[in-house]
Amino acid sequence: EYPQSKRVSAVQPSPTLVITAKAAELRRQGRDIISLGAGEPDFDTPAHIKAAGIRAIEEGKTRYTAVDGIPELKQAVVDKFKRDNQLDFTPAQVLVSSGGKQSLYNLFQALLNPGDEVIIPAPYWVSYPDMVKLAEAVPVIVSAGIRQGFKVTAGQIADAMTERTRMLILNSPNNPSGAVYTARELEAIASVLRRHPQVLIVTDDMYEHIILDDVPFTNILNVAPDLYERTVVCNGVSKAYAMTGWRIGYAAGPEPIIAAMRKVQSQSTSNPCSISQYAALEALNGPQDCIDVMVAAFRERNEFVYERVNQIAGMKSLPAKGAFYSFIDVNGVLASHGYADDIELASDLLENAEVAVVPGTAFGAPGHIRISFATSLDALRTALSRIERHLNRD
Ligand code: PLP
Repeated sequence: EYPQSKRVSAVQPSPTLVITAKAAELRRQGRDIISLGAGEPDFDTPAHIKAAGIRAIEEGKTRYTAVDGIPELKQAVVDKFKRDNQLDFTPAQVLVSSGGKQSLYNLFQALLNPGDEVIIPAPYWVSYPDMVKLAEAVPVIVSAGIRQGFKVTAGQIADAMTERTRMLILNSPNNPSGAVYTARELEAIASVLRRHPQVLIVTDDMYEHIILDDVPFTNILNVAPDLYERTVVCNGVSKAYAMTGWRIGYAAGPEPIIAAMRKVQSQSTSNPCSISQYAALEALNGPQDCIDVMVAAFRERNEFVYERVNQIAGMKSLPAKGAFYSFIDVNGVLASHGYADDIELASDLLENAEVAVVPGTAFGAPGHIRISFATSLDALRTALSRIERHLNRD
């Protein structure tokens, strides 16, 4: 008998995986399941980026690199922050990791102690609370529903602050809600943070480039540069360049924090894949128009999904402002059809409408489902018709 550590047993297997496994099982049985569960672009990595990876292999760039990334890539990250975000960092303030996920994991391991509190606005990306728990800290969830556009207010954050609060996580554009915080909203949050100098700000800007509407991307440091000494910015190439499998993310922030994160990485995974680093270098320094092509497709699908979803009785959504997800309030459907919760609805849609969606419970927002529009317009059209037909049966 080898019982799990207390740390690990505190972590739940994600409900996303349950649906994914069930969808795979039904497909194996020959069922034609449309998956709207994907958390990654449906596009291929652009050719010039793939070529850089191939070149790296051929040139023998296949050995260990510096733990924190090759100097060229760190410089490219510095340049990217300057170019896209008007933020100044030195290479010593940058750590390249195996995905944005590892950047965040390193950060929590490096800074959190048992009992520390981390404020996480919900709906949230599935991994934040569990990664916080793996660092033996306590996730403090602050919820925003559809009426607040799925965005928490500065007042709610103020109310969640205690003397144990160590971090606030901001994720805009947001997975799963598609919400984008405006400069004004971030200013209000910044004024709360000024009253709590012990709190570190973590911004997860993974969807920075996937802007679908009229709210431009803003990092809190753009409106509150005085918070520079206590903000860590996390980003990566996964979503912007359709590079989820290459596993390259990066973080930038105060040097001592980045050094502590590097220490965690040096004793766990060491450098991220050398080949992927050269591909990411080309992604950041090469032509950027590949992003526009993807974003144009996401915009078209967003419009379609928004209109179509709101035609279905009991479903309500907002047009996503960013990322590639539609987050749907299904409380009306739950009430009219007698489903116990969003998990039961998602299971029923999978079994009987042959559409895989992710229950909102996975994101700390019961009563919702997330559908990804990282799939073709045709698939979206068919999937939403199947859902409507199933819910309107007899
Ligand atoms: N942050 C958010 C909000 C995400 O949705 C994801 C991926 O789904 C990540 C971070 C991690 O991305 P990666 O580890 O692929 O860089």
